[in-house]
Amino acid sequence: MHSYVYFFGGGQAEGSAAQKQLLGGKGANLAEMTNLGLPVPPGFTVTTDACLHFFDHDRQHPPGMDDQVRAGVARVEQLTQKGFGSAANPLLFSVRSGAPVSMPGMMDTVLNLGLNDDTVQGLALKTGNPRFAWDSYRRFLYMLGDVVLEIHGSRFHRARKSAFADLAPGDMDLASLQKLCGIFQEVISEAWGSFPEDPWDQLDIAIDAIFRSFNTPRARYYRKTHGIPEDCGTAVNVQTMVFGNMGDDSGTGVAFTRNPSTGERVFFGEWLPNAQGEDVVAGTHTPRPLNRQKEADAEGTLAEDMPEVYIQLNDLQKRLEAHYRDMQDIEFTIEQGTLYLLQTRTGKRTPAAAVQIAVDLEREGVIDRDTALGRIEPGLLEMVLRPVLDPDAPRRAISAGLPASPGAACGRVVFHSDEAQDLHDRGEQAILVRMETSPEDIQGMTVAEGILTSRGGQTSHAAVVARGMGKPCVVGATELLIDYGRNLFYAGDTVVKHGDWITIDGALGEVYEGRIPTLAPPTDSDALQDLLSWADEKAVLAVRANADTGRDATRARELGAIGIGLCRTEHMFFKPEALRWMRELIVAEDQKSRLRALAQILPIQRTDFVEIFQAMDGLPVTVRLLDPPLHEFLPHEDADVAEVAADLGVRLERLRTRLSQLRESNPMLGHRGCRLGVTSPEIYATQVRALFDAACDVTEAGGVVLPEVMIPLVALDGELIRLRKVVEDTAEEVLAQRGCRIDYKVGTMIELPRAALLADTIALHADFFSFGTNDLTQLTYGFSRDDMGKFFPAYVDLGLLRDSPLATFDVAGVGQLVQTGTERGRGANERLKVGVCGEHGGDPTGIGFFHQVGLDYVSCSPFRVPVARLAAAHAAMGLL
Ligand code: PEP
Ligand code: MG
Repeated sequence: MHSYVYFFGGGQAEGSAAQKQLLGGKGANLAEMTNLGLPVPPGFTVTTDACLHFFDHDRQHPPGMDDQVRAGVARVEQLTQKGFGSAANPLLFSVRSGAPVSMPGMMDTVLNLGLNDDTVQGLALKTGNPRFAWDSYRRFLYMLGDVVLEIHGSRFHRARKSAFADLAPGDMDLASLQKLCGIFQEVISEAWGSFPEDPWDQLDIAIDAIFRSFNTPRARYYRKTHGIPEDCGTAVNVQTMVFGNMGDDSGTGVAFTRNPSTGERVFFGEWLPNAQGEDVVAGTHTPRPLNRQKEADAEGTLAEDMPEVYIQLNDLQKRLEAHYRDMQDIEFTIEQGTLYLLQTRTGKRTPAAAVQIAVDLEREGVIDRDTALGRIEPGLLEMVLRPVLDPDAPRRAISAGLPASPGAACGRVVFHSDEAQDLHDRGEQAILVRMETSPEDIQGMTVAEGILTSRGGQTSHAAVVARGMGKPCVVGATELLIDYGRNLFYAGDTVVKHGDWITIDGALGEVYEGRIPTLAPPTDSDALQDLLSWADEKAVLAVRANADTGRDATRARELGAIGIGLCRTEHMFFKPEALRWMRELIVAEDQKSRLRALAQILPIQRTDFVEIFQAMDGLPVTVRLLDPPLHEFLPHEDADVAEVAADLGVRLERLRTRLSQLRESNPMLGHRGCRLGVTSPEIYATQVRALFDAACDVTEAGGVVLPEVMIPLVALDGELIRLRKVVEDTAEEVLAQRGCRIDYKVGTMIELPRAALLADTIALHADFFSFGTNDLTQLTYGFSRDDMGKFFPAYVDLGLLRDSPLATFDVAGVGQLVQTGTERGRGANERLKVGVCGEHGGDPTGIGFFHQVGLDYVSCSPFRVPVARLAAAHAAMGLL
């Protein structure tokens, strides 16, 4: 006879942990816990097979299933000494769904099944608490109606309101609750002809409802979008209800085998005497600690009030952790002095705790090093170094955009860079809200706690700069309507004014109203250092950082970068004095004025390079020559144009004319990258001069500088040949003048599809290639990285894309270009070093692929260096 029902209870289960497919995740876990000898309330699991049969056979139960359910109930009755439907000593069940993979959108739980007008009396008698019994009955009727019988919840609410106006069930006395139960029964009878008094009928329809919920549109959509097979079905778990509210010898609580916020190895949790689980969750009562962590902790701990139960629980938690080899989150109930475990699962934890726990478990010999490394998802490490929202704090999201730089930040809304500075000067926190940012905003971005923009994608100016700074940032919140004139923005119905508090979560891309408390990241965690040093032993790919200042370079080195893979020299013009001279250069009308401006730029860049070379003493530093279109350095809004004209001492009209000369239809495809170097070689020559002067300064002071000059946006070998000559001539001239010998490399960024396809021709003139996967992605897809926020959310909604290709590397498309470029490049020049410096250098999907292709290094923003180090180890271990 085929078994559709698997019993668990009394120390033995028919199923086992291995049967997740048949029993669902929850059922397999209940079987496992029972087999471990844990005190689990007895019950049984109806299998996923039965569910699949139900759908294949016109909603009929498979032969034998109903008898097996009856036999299961009988076994539970025997173990508990209670009767299903007994008025004197009623056995009640919880009925829960449990698919092999957890799946939101399916029916979840019916509690207190088995109650009717008779059994409710028995429950009242047994608990000595009639109010509780009738309140449980009220909840059961509602759940049965709403989730099992599919009667819209509003019908119950309307019926309650017409009888009791605004009186909530929680405030009702016994008589009112009894009346309310009658009213709910009428609602059910109206819709269904009668209320199913018979507990067997209740059980039957509850099981069917769970089967059916497997096929709701929401559950189907979830399966489709998450690649879960349609033929997995769901199991149904029918388990004895236990009550923690049967007097002072009862209670309920939640325990963690280690602290889930810090990872510290302490047994810790909360409980409530004489209460049900819901009371803990609802926050209507303040829970008490399980034990005293310190002397000053509140009294009323479980350890003091029920010492024997506490000792038993403490013993069980140790066994559970040793068995599952990970931190457990345990739900328990004490019914009249008897301890029951309702659930144990791998506990959720903060990123910092995840690292601490994995490393501690390795040190304790519970898991090995590979397991510890594998336990931490690389992306989590970015969060370890950033503040996170207090998980317990209430919040109201008012908008959402793209997650551009993780971390949580709150502050007062400002719309302009100088206002952020003003607030900062007064010791206050600001969130800079802009449609998009530009170099003008750098000062404000530097002092703001976080940045929010309504436009732009994950490689927009705001996103790239914020990531470099390690600042929380949300971009492309397209629903925000920003009104700079009136100093406010609209987020749907909410109006947020200048000076109002908001909070952003740059890891989720969410924007919240008000000020939500954040938890600071631990600054120096030994556990993190250990984990990363284990990762480095496994990794094959080296990890460098993208950094443009001495400060960022220092940070990157502290975080374990072994060089700089991309120093974007245009970022050095974020400083006001540098920006001014850059503008002077752009508007210059003759060669003399251009050279004058360049002469001013040279020492500024030189100082910056000195700081970076010092920070990176002994490690390679790749410096990219100027890349962006020049108009990015000029103002766009009328008021700013007038201000800049006055500052530069040029007539407004002339600046306007120059701006219109520079205007391009597609600036990203325009006069930028090496094209600037080809038409104005003196700009590149000046940069190279500043770089080698700085390199000589640092070398003379005893440092070791390993410069690598990178030429961006090359499409033709001819471009590289010409510009390599500019670099070499200038470098040799400076080195000869200074009498200094420094080895250097000259290479290029591969960020145009043509360059990747014809990499062999280019590699002949390059010492290294660095894939600029941001531009390469934009140009492979043919979308603008700054504008994709407009249509990308719709693509995700429609399931056309799962994730932004700017955030998660497009292995199928762009990956082919990276592979071809690498193979052809190395084929022509076997000494060629190959790396990646686009944002995907910190993206684990990309890192998995770059490892496979056999690149030498990846480069990413400093805060992602730990992510990349761990991802490189995962890649080497075959986990990515
Ligand atoms: C790139 O294109 O991948 C890159 C790193 O350059 P940028 O983002 O500065 O264009
Ligand atoms: Mg680029």
